Amino acid sequence: MSLLPVYDALERVLNSVDQLDNETISIHDALGRITAGDINSNLTQPPFAASAMDGYAVKFADIDQTLEVVGESQAGLSYAGTLKTGQAVRIFTGAPMVDGADTVVIQENVDRDGNNLIINDCKAIGSNIRDAGSDFMDGECLVEAHTKIDARHIALLAAGNVAEFSVFRQPKVAILSTGDELLEVGSEIGPDKIVNSNVPLFMALVKEHGGIPINLGTAQDTEEDVKAKIALVKDVDIFVSIGGVSVGDYDIIQNVLKEAGLKVDFWKVAMQPGKPIVYGNFNGIPYFGMPGNPSSAYVCFANFMLPAMYKMQGQDQSGFPSSHARLEHDVRAGGARLNYMRAFYHENERGEKYVNSTLTQSSANLKTLARSNCLIVRDVDAPPADAGDLVKIFIIEP
Ligand code: AMP
Ligand code: MG
Repeated sequence: MSLLPVYDALERVLNSVDQLDNETISIHDALGRITAGDINSNLTQPPFAASAMDGYAVKFADIDQTLEVVGESQAGLSYAGTLKTGQAVRIFTGAPMVDGADTVVIQENVDRDGNNLIINDCKAIGSNIRDAGSDFMDGECLVEAHTKIDARHIALLAAGNVAEFSVFRQPKVAILSTGDELLEVGSEIGPDKIVNSNVPLFMALVKEHGGIPINLGTAQDTEEDVKAKIALVKDVDIFVSIGGVSVGDYDIIQNVLKEAGLKVDFWKVAMQPGKPIVYGNFNGIPYFGMPGNPSSAYVCFANFMLPAMYKMQGQDQSGFPSSHARLEHDVRAGGARLNYMRAFYHENERGEKYVNSTLTQSSANLKTLARSNCLIVRDVDAPPADAGDLVKIFIIEP
């Protein structure tokens, strides 16, 4: 079977997943969620004209006279009266403007003696006043649809008195690992065993990108155990298994899943690492069968599963951002498979990116993956590249 080109594989994945439905959540739970519609303000901000500084509310026409301080307007409690000619009102930052006043003089620019006030400097009428609505108006769109909510959006929505709003539901992702050699982190590691690192990797990746991971545990490489574990795949939006998708005698997951309803869309993509990836539909649920080598599984996640998760959540589905960087060393010609080289980029003082990929590229190597912050993307049959040439990178740091 010929290998499917990466971009065709991605297109098939994206065409087969849908945006999830919406749910209404509290602003207190909204960090990192994706808005499902425009969110409008429930009030005008500031709701009233307010002082921007600590000082005195006056009539600009009066500033050359000695004024009488007749009261106070503080944040949360306005001055009840109306300012008359010759009067001033002590006012504080955020306090409502005083009826009849048109200017605030900052306290650094006055001399006060008892209730007598002399203004030393005030340049313009209207100084130091925040007009009602100078930030935003009632009904104005504060945050657009398809925005990932961060702390600044939360502050803005809170100020607009938006207590709850609609976001895309988070994809639930069932994660199953397979392999007789795997033990969970923290266990006593006997002979011939290794620690399961892919499940912690995928649990974290799913969380990092807005999903809800569900750990189905590890299946032994037997039909019975794989069957028992896949019976747990229910009420999820994505099912991902890790390991056992290659052509070894113990790589049984694809066949067991097929008996249980898996329709394979593709198996084997022209990429390195990650070639043996399986993609299909498991009883209505998008299914990714990832290779067991951690870097292979990671590159498959970055290329296919991340865009799918983003599409489901109504986000830009390109996944990790791509950019360009100058090579710090020569790189040989690309081969028959699209190659993702784990690499490290840095920026010089002018913001220009440089990249090197001198760590081992073994797909079993986790240290290389953890120390990389990007993947150099080498196209199929790319000519050799020299130090100084620009190459495409995927930036993988969260
Ligand atoms: P497989 O895809 O099952 O042939 O596994 C390929 C390699 O990845 C083997 O060296 C496995 O031991 C390793 N591997 C598979 N699953 C995991 C896992 N969950 N954590 C760490 N290594 C794994
Ligand atoms: Mg295995």
